[in-house]
Amino acid sequence: MKFRKYLRGSKRVLAFVFVASVIWLLFDIAALRMSFNDANQDLKEREFAQKQGRRRDNIEDMGFKHPLQVVNIDKRAFIKKGSRFDRNVNNVYRKGEKARPENQTLLQNHLNPKLNGGKAYKEDINQSNVHITVKSVVKETIVIIPKKSNETNTMINVKANNVAKMKGTHLADEVHHRNDTVAVSHRDVGLHENLVNNLLKPGNDKSDFIIDSTEIHSSNKTKTHFVQKPTELNLHGLSEEPVMLFNSTDVRMRRSGRLHKIMALDVTDRPRDPQAIGQFGQPAQVPRDKEPESRRRWGEGHFNVFLSDQIPVDRAIPDTRPHSCSESLVHDDLPSTSVIFCFVDEVWSTLLRSVHSVLNRSPPHLLKEVILVDDCSTKDYLKEQLDVYMSQFSKVRIIRLKERQGLIRARIAGADAATGEVLTFLDSHVECNIGWLEPLLERVYLDHRKVVCPVIEVVNDKDMSYMLVDNFQRGVFRWPLVFGWNALPEEYIRKNQMKDSDPIRCPVMAGGLFSIDKKYFYELGSYDPGLDVWGGENMEISFKIWMCGGEIEIIPCSRVGHIFRGDNPYKFPKDRVKTVERNLARVAEVWLDEYKEIFYSHGYHHLLDKSITDIGNLTEQIQLREKLKCKSFKWYLDNVYPDLNAPLVKADGLIFNVGTRKCLIFQNGILSFDKCDLSNKSQHFSYTWLRLLRHNTSCVAPREMHVIMEPCDNAKPHLRWVHKSSAVLTEHLMMEGHSQPMCLEAENNSDGILLKGCDSINTLQKWQFTHYYTQ
Ligand code: UDP
Ligand code: MN
Repeated sequence: MKFRKYLRGSKRVLAFVFVASVIWLLFDIAALRMSFNDANQDLKEREFAQKQGRRRDNIEDMGFKHPLQVVNIDKRAFIKKGSRFDRNVNNVYRKGEKARPENQTLLQNHLNPKLNGGKAYKEDINQSNVHITVKSVVKETIVIIPKKSNETNTMINVKANNVAKMKGTHLADEVHHRNDTVAVSHRDVGLHENLVNNLLKPGNDKSDFIIDSTEIHSSNKTKTHFVQKPTELNLHGLSEEPVMLFNSTDVRMRRSGRLHKIMALDVTDRPRDPQAIGQFGQPAQVPRDKEPESRRRWGEGHFNVFLSDQIPVDRAIPDTRPHSCSESLVHDDLPSTSVIFCFVDEVWSTLLRSVHSVLNRSPPHLLKEVILVDDCSTKDYLKEQLDVYMSQFSKVRIIRLKERQGLIRARIAGADAATGEVLTFLDSHVECNIGWLEPLLERVYLDHRKVVCPVIEVVNDKDMSYMLVDNFQRGVFRWPLVFGWNALPEEYIRKNQMKDSDPIRCPVMAGGLFSIDKKYFYELGSYDPGLDVWGGENMEISFKIWMCGGEIEIIPCSRVGHIFRGDNPYKFPKDRVKTVERNLARVAEVWLDEYKEIFYSHGYHHLLDKSITDIGNLTEQIQLREKLKCKSFKWYLDNVYPDLNAPLVKADGLIFNVGTRKCLIFQNGILSFDKCDLSNKSQHFSYTWLRLLRHNTSCVAPREMHVIMEPCDNAKPHLRWVHKSSAVLTEHLMMEGHSQPMCLEAENNSDGILLKGCDSINTLQKWQFTHYYTQ
């Protein structure tokens, strides 16, 4: 019996030991998992950070993606013979409405001449694009008058909508300055004849020629004759109309001088080939037998290069501007701009489409030049072939960099060469939409410290369709300096009675596309030239602009499509991830003040160790910030991006020990416990983003099995304590990066603190801060 009892007893003991060790093991595993979780969290954040790209669309979080509108238009409507893009189609785009039955009918009626009340659009058989160079300008008003010629039926044409305007108020928006070259195309003979008849009425003075007919060269070699005359019709005739600037507050900003409606210039309005693939920005499809080729060529640009090559380089796209844009007024004397495209190994057809969209849809007198900066591309077609192609456009200049500089220094090179008053930077795979330029320049004109971005729409990487994005979107960032899109709060829109065409204050620009006053760009010290290749420069310039007295706006009346792609088609001279994170660390060090800790804590701890990552010299950048007397990052957060939750520490206040019910105190160089007292500053600690337990400049550090206070140093991993990141050991303070989970434990009777193996139920190891600011 005794033996059995003993056995029972020993079994009990054994069972107890067994259960205890299982529990211990479980805790151990849990604690380990916690440290793994923590490490994983770091990894996840790092991975996220690595994926980040300025203009990338790969941010999966809701509300942070590029917000595409679904526009569901019957594609067949676009391939009908004689179809043209017109306002009704645009309306459907603008509203982003799913094509309702009535919309659908409206569209089809309009696009199908037979259904369009018998008013068929005349089919043009003999379209020609003709380049003319203006030899002289009479006042600021010019009329290009095509004359009917006996020798040929081909005529020089002005666009249909200009013709319409011609009858009423003004015409020929394209030409304003001496030596402006303009490509005019026109396909509507009926309207054209009307125009000629109207303007060549007896009594009109034909003596004053303003266009030299000898300069005319037609792409299809037909001879064209002109009569030219000054006209009483005035481009400025609109200034009597009510002022409709973008935003009611802007009326105050109006400068003296005349105004006119934004010019709806679009040479491609009635495209050469309405049937062409991808025409009107519609989705294109790869024929079945071409799929292997299309797949093979994807890597050339990381989008559907095969389709891009099929689509006309001057295709028409829908006018996606909000309605009121075409009625908005801008000043007559806007500054001119240099459009700068930096590129490296860009796909031929997308580069051309980008350039054509600028040439075709910008008022020539405002487009000083187009500068192509070749950042040492490796592709042959981007050398002589490009020179030859671009030589037909007098405004296009090519700058070749001898060494690969990266986007940032390539842009600086482009800016240095620019002669326009305003710099407009664009990516080399974009399509500028109708009326894109004037609204940007207007804002810079109103205030040279406004830096303005068009709405970046999406050219789909798979089918190359032009896609509309949601209204009221602005560029923001989240930690660790990841760019993304986010809608203005409803409340804000309501309070400010914002219209969909009003400029939107933008905390961070996407980076690819913007206009900036050239002098102001240099006042701001341009970009930090220490930034390499690509990445982070949009953050740099955004913080710099806002903190040093400028503003960034998105201008809804200006829209540019951009191909967002999943990968870069070019090589990074050094490791891509390391390049981007080094750039970001430079930005954080110069601009984020004490908030840089938040950046580093989101997967970038390793950048704090300067022996591993050399982020280069920052003296000049820091001096620049001082010289410009820029405001603090706190000011930026409070005033520009107040909806970002950015507490400076994770937790602070007293550190309460659950077991002893006392609080940690650091007094006379000794760390111990005392009765909790909020008014006692010696009991105030904070738990920082980099997981330090900080009291002023001293931090809790392990020393063998005890703890001491050491000067804080974010780069020292042994000062980091994990708190609140696991369901099992939530309230513990566990040493980071130790092979055995070690936790801070209060000594019950001596007011000392020990370092002990973590024990999830031991209340002496549980600690609580007075305030927590993050999860
Ligand atoms: N670019 C450049 N040099 C570089 C990297 C990029 O000139 O070292 C150009 C690139 O050709 C493009 C622009 O910079 O016109 C922006 O790059 P990308 O479009 O690849 O960035 P994303 O839009 O994908 O963020
Ligand atoms: Mn791009």
